Amino acid sequence: MQLLSPPFFHYSAVASATAAGVLPQEAGRIDVRALARASGVELYEATLVRLDLDARIAVTSDGAALSYDVLSLNIGSVVAAVPGMRVDPTAVTVKPLSGLAELDERLRDPARLGADVTIVGGGATGLELAAHLAVRRDVGRVRVVESGRDVGAGLPPGARRRLNRLLAQRGVEVRTRCAVTDVRERRVVCADGTEISHDVALMATGLSAPPLITELGLGDEHGVPVRDTLQHIDLDEIYAVGDCAHFTSQALPRIGVHGVRQGPVLLRSLLDRRRGRPLPVYEPRRHALSVLDLGEGVGLAVRGRWWWCGASALRLKRRIDRRWLAQYQVVDPGRSAGRQWVSPS
Ligand SMILES: Cc1cc2nc3c(=O)[nH]c(=O)nc-3n(C[C@H](O)[C@H](O)[C@H](O)COP(=O)(O)OP(=O)(O)OC[C@H]3O[C@@H](n4cnc5c(N)ncnc54)[C@H](O)[C@@H]3O)c2cc1C
Repeated sequence: MQLLSPPFFHYSAVASATAAGVLPQEAGRIDVRALARASGVELYEATLVRLDLDARIAVTSDGAALSYDVLSLNIGSVVAAVPGMRVDPTAVTVKPLSGLAELDERLRDPARLGADVTIVGGGATGLELAAHLAVRRDVGRVRVVESGRDVGAGLPPGARRRLNRLLAQRGVEVRTRCAVTDVRERRVVCADGTEISHDVALMATGLSAPPLITELGLGDEHGVPVRDTLQHIDLDEIYAVGDCAHFTSQALPRIGVHGVRQGPVLLRSLLDRRRGRPLPVYEPRRHALSVLDLGEGVGLAVRGRWWWCGASALRLKRRIDRRWLAQYQVVDPGRSAGRQWVSPS
């Protein structure tokens, strides 16, 4: 078995807290090299750029050709492009997380002290970041611009009201029914002609599969279409899991829990196909617990229509995240990164 991956993995559940400077940058970082070594997996440190599906060869970013019998794609997601919206390259994107990691650095830049931040997109990620940034001393004004009727559209109504109240208390300006058409370096332009100025724009318009999936000829912006067995609908030797997969039998939200729970199914499938056994299927659970980290020690926990907001919700999130990370943050004696973190809460 060979793993083709960049040397570090960044865990998204703590990404808002690290981007806001609440947790250290290395809190969510997993040293893939150390993990592969400890697990007896051969690592090829690069990224996938091309596939020869007939010859079953994966071409890497450094030009190597890796042959395979079975290939599993788990390349995550990117911020969804909104049709017709132009986005200046200076805008920070919430995914891939490497972009978000730069946010803290940019806000700490003395030349940008007191920066006004415009967040484009009022979904869970945009609101989590807005709540965090609003309490940073080095951030001036935080604005959320949303094309829909309300922000936090996927949340239960009570949770949405609670979150709106918290944002208002922290001075976040929320503009709804405002469709952004152009994100420039120092301002956004909306469809009705309104212009909003800023120092930093942050794109949080939802997640889609990386363009590479389309370039590989394996799917589109919805992802690699897979069956319940996590295999491509037409190609038995291609698997896809996590955000880059399009689970065709039912729409799944792009949340980490699916990638995490698909992992053991994928492993069993790889072993079972070698033994000629029937392949296992992924059965998504109806509801998953998700906890937004709203900064200042406050969390908003949601599961289906049930929700609660407070310090205990964030403590629960920290416990879950720490426990998950502890399984994978193996320390490589040759490197200093990848240590476990201790949460202040
Ligand atoms: C700010 C933010 C906060 C979030 N918080 C939560 C949360 O609290 N809970 C939750 O459930 N979900 C959360 N999400 C959603 C979550 O990020 C995704 O659902 C989750 O990361 C999907 O996991 P994944 O393994 O599919 O992809 P990822 O975690 O994105 O991992 C993909 C990996 O593939 C690598 N890769 C990319 N391209 C290539 C290539 N060409 N070749 C080789 N490797 C490649 C990347 O470097 C990365 O390591 C959040 C998202 C954001 C943006």
